[in-house]
Amino acid sequence: MSRFLSSRFCGLSAYVPGEQPRDTQYIKLNTNESPFPPSPGVIGAVSSREMEDLRLYSDPQCGELRRALADYYNVQPENITVGNGSDEILNFAFMGFCDGDTGVAYPDISYGFYSVFARLYGLWAREIPLREDFSIAAEDYCGLGKTVVIANPNAPTGLFLSLEEIEKIVMSNSENVVIIDEAYIDFGGESAIPLTRKYPNLLVVQTFSKSRSLAGARLGFAVGSAELIVDLEKLRYSTNPYNINRLTQAAGCQALREFEYYNKNCKEIILNREYTVKKLEELGFFCTDSKTNFVFAKSSKIGGGELYKRLRQKGILVRHFGAPRIEDFVRITVGTRSQMETLISVLKEIGA
Ligand SMILES: *Cc1c(COP(=O)(O)O)cnc(C)c1O
Repeated sequence: MSRFLSSRFCGLSAYVPGEQPRDTQYIKLNTNESPFPPSPGVIGAVSSREMEDLRLYSDPQCGELRRALADYYNVQPENITVGNGSDEILNFAFMGFCDGDTGVAYPDISYGFYSVFARLYGLWAREIPLREDFSIAAEDYCGLGKTVVIANPNAPTGLFLSLEEIEKIVMSNSENVVIIDEAYIDFGGESAIPLTRKYPNLLVVQTFSKSRSLAGARLGFAVGSAELIVDLEKLRYSTNPYNINRLTQAAGCQALREFEYYNKNCKEIILNREYTVKKLEELGFFCTDSKTNFVFAKSSKIGGGELYKRLRQKGILVRHFGAPRIEDFVRITVGTRSQMETLISVLKEIGA
């Protein structure tokens, strides 16, 4: 750290992303990417014509993309904003919808970026404990008088909270924004997007990184009331109006046209998840009831940190979080069937 960094940031600890090794010798099951390539048309959509146009700025309104998202989710373009990954939208939401004194609330075990953003903006953060079984106790979030952030399904637990419970939380916090982070919603949960028509304080955030195979393109979006979107657009235009580059806008539009391809991939991931959970349970693992593209699993024989290390030695990357209550677990991205078969045979080999 230099002596020039503002004292506001001296105590900040940055988000630690999962490893992204530059070689491909690993079976990469650590950052919840899709094992499938983008749909065939996406490759064409980012080809030479669009490349030549890279000399021009991208459309700051992201008009075509917002229209396509609005059509797909049955809302209006005024209800949609887009981000350089959903992380950027979450950043704007923490920046814009939380005040230092009222603060923000989110589960104690959830996406690691929430606490980073809370500290970045000096917010009073209330981390609400999950129940013993890792489920979210919706009543703990009702009438809080704070901005609420919930990943649904939650990460890294994989558990889904019903829309009835979400609606209760939204209704009882009508003076605050409730942010539902639906990064994994396409793998079995039910989206709260339809509720955004009814509740002006509900913001639903999604990403193209997981179910739509575009993690490297960086594209996220949020759906909410036109008023909330105006606020987020103000912050976007005050930060970087060209946050979505031309290639990513083209890729995103095309991906929405080829939704059947992605729906098929999601179904396959769900089947592979069920296969993996069954095989893990046969080996004596405990697995949560994941509705995502990862399984959250605990070996009955080996601790989480040790299991992570042994898998790594055998060329398989998974994610381990050294936090209280979850240190015995690993988070394993669901890949292709053959990757999952390899995982299971390696686990047998290393005595897990
Ligand atoms: C992956 C993930 C994100 C971020 O996705 P990007 O769109 O790639 O920035 C946000 N929230 C949760 C819970 C995630 O797992």
